[in-house]
Amino acid sequence: MSGGPTLPQQRRIVTEIPGPGSRARLERKRTHVADGVGTVLPVFVVEAGGGVLVDVDGNALIDLGSGIAVTTVGNAAPAVVERVVAQAASFTHTCFMVTPYDGYVDVCAELAGLTPGDHPKKSALFNSGAEAVENAVKVARVATGRDAVAVFDHAYHGRTNLTMAMTAKNMPYKNGFGPFAGEVYRAPMSYPFRDALSGPDAAARAIDVLEKQVGAGNLACVVIEPVQGEGGFVVPAEGFLPAVSRWCTDNGVLLVADEIQTGFCRTGDWFACDHEGVVPDLVTTAKGMAGGLPLAAVTGRAELMDAVHAGGLGGTYGGNPVACAAALGAIEEMRSHDLVGRARAVGERLGARLRAIAEEHDVVADVRGRGAMMAVELCRPGTTEPDAARTAAVAAHCHAQGVVTLTCGTWGNVIRFLPPLAITDELLDEGLAVVAEAFAATA
Ligand SMILES: *Cc1c(COP(=O)(O)O)cnc(C)c1O
Repeated sequence: MSGGPTLPQQRRIVTEIPGPGSRARLERKRTHVADGVGTVLPVFVVEAGGGVLVDVDGNALIDLGSGIAVTTVGNAAPAVVERVVAQAASFTHTCFMVTPYDGYVDVCAELAGLTPGDHPKKSALFNSGAEAVENAVKVARVATGRDAVAVFDHAYHGRTNLTMAMTAKNMPYKNGFGPFAGEVYRAPMSYPFRDALSGPDAAARAIDVLEKQVGAGNLACVVIEPVQGEGGFVVPAEGFLPAVSRWCTDNGVLLVADEIQTGFCRTGDWFACDHEGVVPDLVTTAKGMAGGLPLAAVTGRAELMDAVHAGGLGGTYGGNPVACAAALGAIEEMRSHDLVGRARAVGERLGARLRAIAEEHDVVADVRGRGAMMAVELCRPGTTEPDAARTAAVAAHCHAQGVVTLTCGTWGNVIRFLPPLAITDELLDEGLAVVAEAFAATA
């Protein structure tokens, strides 16, 4: 068996989903894996490639989630596999803090070139998105000599102690896990569907909260997802990010863009901040960066990154050589296949189909997103009252028909689409036809 793009790019359903093989394995999972680790769609995967996942029962599913925006370049992308195999055969670990190697420095050099702004930049590498966010806050606190951290309603920044405090939603991310880290303050986000505010007005509202409740002089950083992920694919109104950015600059507050879900071509730019020309002081990246291997980074203005004393940043596995090789392979795929352009094309196709579904089904109250990061928000017709039950029903129908869709949103009433950019137009159309069918079947 082998995955990668040679795997037939077709949906093929040969058993019910999950099939007997997956159901038997689910029993084993229940025995050995902690119940707190959930699964959205319990089919056990044996190979994957492009936009297809194949399970133990021989079903081939269409992937519209990319393992949560990770396999942007496609599953088992050739340049990733090739470099990972070569690197794993050479050496698998030294710990960069003990004896360094080129791959780590190569990834940091790529990050300096690709992230927004042409000022001198440096990076530090980590294993997970949450770890990158934690380290961005560490850098911001040392560089500014201030403690307070501002985040937004609906934000998602991870599940570690500090990032739980930064994440907005209680269930399932925070419930019972407190006490949480201090000095984290929440401001209202620009959410055009729900607040109908212009970008500048929404920014003024957020800035007022920060000035009155925290004080600009106490703030080390404002951490924001330029398009929110878990929180519901909330795209702030035009002008919101530039206004927040300007206020940060005027007040010595660092702007940290959490581009963990939006980065690396997903939104039709290398980074979502590029859309309005916003240049953050620090950027966190992970998910799409390394084609599926665990790698994350903080990239920022060189003088800010260098504010931290030697030994203050790092970790045993951060910037593992195999993960760095994967990232260099993924970036090669992004360049050679123009995945920025591909994300825009996928976004147009996706947007058109989702708007057509919205025309037919008044439960779809909003279609939004950017590039290959699109979503529909479901509400009781004619209201903004979230319809989580219908959302779950639509997703379940898609799953039963062999299409992997993910939900999100503070109220669990958003279906998000994050197809791998290696997906063919035919496969994407077929997946979206199933989604349309799911809306009809659950009406
Ligand atoms: C997924 C995500 C994180 C956390 O990343 P992990 O690798 O799961 O720790 C942080 N921020 C954003 C915007 C994310 O989407």
